[in-house]
Amino acid sequence: MPVGEIIAIGTELLLGEIQDTNTAFIARRLRDAGIDLYRTTIVGDNPERIAQAIREAVDRSDIVITTGGLGPTVDDPTRLAVATAFGADLEFRPELWEQIQDRFSRFHRPVTENNRRQAYIPCGAVAIENQVGTAPAFYFERDSKIIISLPGVPREMEHLFQQKVLPILDDRFKLRGIIKAYVLHAAGVGESQVDEWIGELEASANPTVGLLAHPGQIDIRVTAKASSELEADAMIREMVSQVHQRVGEAIFGSNQETLEQVVLTRLGLQGWKLSLVECGFGGAISERLAKAGFSTAQAHILPELCRPSELQQLTQSSHAHKTAEVTLGAGFYPGPIMQDLYLYLITPNSTLEQNRSYGGPPQLGPAWAVQTALDFIRRNIP
Ligand code: ATP
Repeated sequence: MPVGEIIAIGTELLLGEIQDTNTAFIARRLRDAGIDLYRTTIVGDNPERIAQAIREAVDRSDIVITTGGLGPTVDDPTRLAVATAFGADLEFRPELWEQIQDRFSRFHRPVTENNRRQAYIPCGAVAIENQVGTAPAFYFERDSKIIISLPGVPREMEHLFQQKVLPILDDRFKLRGIIKAYVLHAAGVGESQVDEWIGELEASANPTVGLLAHPGQIDIRVTAKASSELEADAMIREMVSQVHQRVGEAIFGSNQETLEQVVLTRLGLQGWKLSLVECGFGGAISERLAKAGFSTAQAHILPELCRPSELQQLTQSSHAHKTAEVTLGAGFYPGPIMQDLYLYLITPNSTLEQNRSYGGPPQLGPAWAVQTALDFIRRNIP
């Protein structure tokens, strides 16, 4: 299986002024094509540093993809950097200059002498015509390695990647394998607990099983490499079923599913409405549900902290109004070290209460509390 790397070029990316969405896009596509991604790098607009990053990447990997830095200004250094990395000169390609002029005239825009720069590519490189923008892309091959330079504008890069780059890679590397991932989401348990349950599975080489902790949620990612999608799906199914057996009801969903969607679906299936009494959250639980398109039957958002016993009384009296079948009272009590959560839930079947504590970074406490409160509802609706 070939190994790939991505180099995103641009000082604005390096300084965090814009988000590097190109790397994420390319990474997903490489994965789908069965190419192992070893590393991604961000480099500023400096030809020498870009050339160095390219040389290092080519040493390690079969496929190196750069994005950005192909514009017409002196700050757009990728052409020069690729040439430098391979000890090649830049050469003017009249056919590229014609394509560029042609595009400008179709857009009724004046072409400047600067744009002529874009018709220079490293000697020995193969041009990739850019039908959706002005900057031509190109690729360069040496010793069975390939480096492909794409523009930075996401729409142009994505188009070229799908239409031109994938066929080139397929042709060179006879891509047959695919890598597929499936993510299970768990809530109401800590990372170390999940780790203990599935530690043995985490040692598997293919599919791999990995954990990623978010406040109040643990993601379990199962990734399979196989020669066909069918085979990958079968491997994933088998591993996912083992994870389910070990983690049980802590798993609430998979892939794009969110906890609030699961809660809302369960309420919907029962035909139950939800009413909330929130204290110490600033309305974060109702907001989260509202974003998922749900309006609570009633939401009391208390501006001040109230004691658990007061919250319990308020929840009971709110429930007595019979506006909803389910009423959740949730109180969040931030502290310097531990943060506490008190939950009181009334459903047609039962009345439950729970105290939970969080000892992670204080700034993540509120997100943990919202997630834990939603999970409490989920676990107690049939
Ligand atoms: P152009 O010729 O159109 O200027 P270019 O190859 O020179 O293309 P850049 O100048 O590096 O591309 O970037 C153009 C714009 O594309 C940036 O201002 C930014 O908005 C966007 N862009 C560049 N790189 C990325 C990236 N990695 N992720 C997301 N957006 C990006």
